[in-house]
Amino acid sequence: MTTEHTYRVAVIPADGVGKEVVAAGCRVLDAVAEQSRTFRFEWTEFPWGSDYYAKHGRMMPEDGLETLRGYDAIYFGAVGWETVPDHVSLWGLRLNITQNFDQWANVRPVTFLPGVTSPLRKAAEVELDWVVVRENSEGEYAGLGGRNLSGRGPGNEVALQTALFTEKGCERIMRFAFDLARKRRVKKVSSVTKSNAQQYGMVLWDEVFARVAQDYPDVATESVLVDAMSAKFVLHPEDLSVVVASNLNADILSDLGSALAGSLGLASSANLNPDGRFPSMFEPVHGSAPDIAGLGVANPIGQISSGALMLEHFGLAAEAARVEAAVRGATAAGVRTRDIGGNATTDEVTTAVVEALQRAV
Ligand code: ATP
Ligand code: MG
Repeated sequence: MTTEHTYRVAVIPADGVGKEVVAAGCRVLDAVAEQSRTFRFEWTEFPWGSDYYAKHGRMMPEDGLETLRGYDAIYFGAVGWETVPDHVSLWGLRLNITQNFDQWANVRPVTFLPGVTSPLRKAAEVELDWVVVRENSEGEYAGLGGRNLSGRGPGNEVALQTALFTEKGCERIMRFAFDLARKRRVKKVSSVTKSNAQQYGMVLWDEVFARVAQDYPDVATESVLVDAMSAKFVLHPEDLSVVVASNLNADILSDLGSALAGSLGLASSANLNPDGRFPSMFEPVHGSAPDIAGLGVANPIGQISSGALMLEHFGLAAEAARVEAAVRGATAAGVRTRDIGGNATTDEVTTAVVEALQRAV
């Protein structure tokens, strides 16, 4: 008789399709746990988000972070609704968690699935898969700046939005990227900046990148400007393995990556606190998708694959691979939501993934 380990996970579906895809993800994760017989999940759901804001005037309770701290991980849906200004909902919940739990590494794989058409002609010819590593604690999202600094009166307002780059912040994300590259088939890190135009922070970034690279002689490197990297994603994606970029640049590039893979609804993401002092958070890259919320047609794959990243984080690599294989099984069999050219519902895709898991035993 093996002893069952319990993973205590805080679940925050939050807004829009988040509520639909989180339920789908939990179903798949429960199925994989049941098969393993060595671990189980204990889910605790927190009804925070824009509905909570309507009642309480804030996105989560004042002691919310304290509550979350004791969990092994956070499984997050999506935040944002028309009733709350976007910057208020984002800072009030998602960024509140990523910043305060020092989840400084955001891992966003770009994965191409069988049976899903990519707008890239190349995707049919070569095997593509790369991962965007996003600096998740500072840079352009440091929240530094202010409005109306000059007091010049109506029509003359000035706003300042400052990006913060620290040597320590750059170094830790770069080491993270190099360590990840070493575990991949293609050992290469591409660093992205706009250091020709942004001559302070991004030049520091370049310098730290060059210095850290010396400790990883077995890993190939390149430095590419973000505009050129956008073109490269489309024209030469086969050259990519690990792409490390600042908060804003990586956010934009990972949306591009997911669109190239076929849909924003496929993209997964891990917000990691690699030091292990705080829980890490796993969520799809997409937002709350108000245009399709409540219809039961959201693609659950981004959320399900984020669950696979959570399994990996728990050291359950084989189980994570099984979830990924089951997702591939479902798309290959033609069970697809609307965004990737099918007509299956969220539930139908989830069921297909669970069945593929069960068949694989
Ligand atoms: P955020 O600002 O939170 O990143 P956003 O404004 O970029 O959000 P999303 O909510 O991600 O936008 O939606 C962008 C588009 O992608 C919408 O047309 C939406 O329907 C679609 N989309 C997002 N997620 C999914 C999903 N899981 N399944 C299908 N379509 C999706
Ligand atoms: Mg977006």
